[in-house]
Amino acid sequence: MSLAGPEPEVLVIGGGAAGLMCALTAGRRGRRVRVLEHANRCGKKILMSGGGRCNFTNTGTTPANFLSANPHFCKSALARYRPGHFIDMVDAHGIAWHEKELGQLFCDESSKQIVAMLLAECADAGVVVETSCTIESVAGLPGGGFRLQTSRGRQDAASLVVATGGLSIPKMGATGLGYELARQFGHAVLPTRAGLVPLTLSGKHLEHYADLAGVSVHVSARCGKARFDNAMLVTHRGLSGPAILQVSSYWEPGKELLLDLLPEHDIQAWLLERQREQPAAELRTVLADVFPKRFAQRLCETWLTSKPMRQFSHGELPAIARQLAHWPIVASGTEGYRTAEVTLGGVDTDGLSSSRMESNIVPGLFFIGEVVDVTGWLGGYNFQWAWASGHAAGLAA
Ligand SMILES: Cc1cc2nc3c(=O)[nH]c(=O)nc-3n(C[C@H](O)[C@H](O)[C@H](O)COP(=O)(O)OP(=O)(O)OC[C@H]3O[C@@H](n4cnc5c(N)ncnc54)[C@H](O)[C@@H]3O)c2cc1C
Repeated sequence: MSLAGPEPEVLVIGGGAAGLMCALTAGRRGRRVRVLEHANRCGKKILMSGGGRCNFTNTGTTPANFLSANPHFCKSALARYRPGHFIDMVDAHGIAWHEKELGQLFCDESSKQIVAMLLAECADAGVVVETSCTIESVAGLPGGGFRLQTSRGRQDAASLVVATGGLSIPKMGATGLGYELARQFGHAVLPTRAGLVPLTLSGKHLEHYADLAGVSVHVSARCGKARFDNAMLVTHRGLSGPAILQVSSYWEPGKELLLDLLPEHDIQAWLLERQREQPAAELRTVLADVFPKRFAQRLCETWLTSKPMRQFSHGELPAIARQLAHWPIVASGTEGYRTAEVTLGGVDTDGLSSSRMESNIVPGLFFIGEVVDVTGWLGGYNFQWAWASGHAAGLAA
């Protein structure tokens, strides 16, 4: 049995951000397109994104905002489909949006509007979307093209686009099918791990912070050459907040992770000035001017000595300044895929065309979105990659 309706030319597995963008782009070219989505509705991650308001792009997107074994791979697709192209579509659908910090664009009302827009564009382009459809097997046909066995019958098509996303948030429908298909067709898959994810602490490192859960501090988090100035939030299990989520994508067990706790200050000069201005004040009182009080107190109870400022020798204050600027974090791990926003690693870009997202091994086979080894920073970059890579494949499939 095959699915009802005319035989498609393009099958897209996965009705998320990249899959729907690819489908509507190919559909507009006049291709007969069918999207096969195993969940009961499309775009579940779009719905939960940006706290329900979908941070749908970042106007400052450049290739430098992405991690990949080949940092050049994303350039072509990002150059051809820019944030302005997506904004035009959002505007054409009358969806109101606003800019938060750093070029991050969010819907004023709801992420549902973005999913509705993509589905309306798909319908307009004649795309058929099948939800609750499980893929049982995929095979290449001897003369080219693909045959899929699904819970809803057999389906053949000349082009197959794999848009199954990453492994994060399994309860939202994430599966490893995309990676399995890549291997099946001879592609390398680079090791995957959770990205944009809270870090966990254990033992005494956790004890030092745990009862500060809820406290937020502006820091600069550094791992290797990566550096992110933003908020850090103490949680019951470790550390989160934008600065930590960003740096988590660069961190792996064994790598050094450092915080500058006062990135906007010349700490040494500031401490010496405080010593002159407030000689009788204790260090913890002085630090409470720039940190939440509980955090300042904990710094002094656990790591620094608190005494009246006048009692610190000239050597001691510079040492404290260095400590505050190079604060080590000993993370035991991450919260993992359960809460991660993205999956790092994935289908090796070496086997793909960067302009078409097509396999160099099997003509007609495409990989797009998060399943590919291209991962964006926090702030709308991951959707921009989904739109751009989906668009590139939609023009070629
Ligand atoms: C909580 C959260 C918030 C986020 N917020 C933002 C944000 O505000 N801005 C931003 O840029 N990024 C955000 N992201 C990241 C962003 O959602 C993803 O990078 C993006 O959705 C990737 O698009 P994709 O199409 O590759 O994958 P997805 O959008 O995940 O789509 C993959 C689709 O494939 C389907 N699928 C999976 N396996 C199968 C299978 N075996 N058979 C059939 N279908 C299958 C899935 O059900 C899903 O519909 C967020 C992620 C999370 C988890």
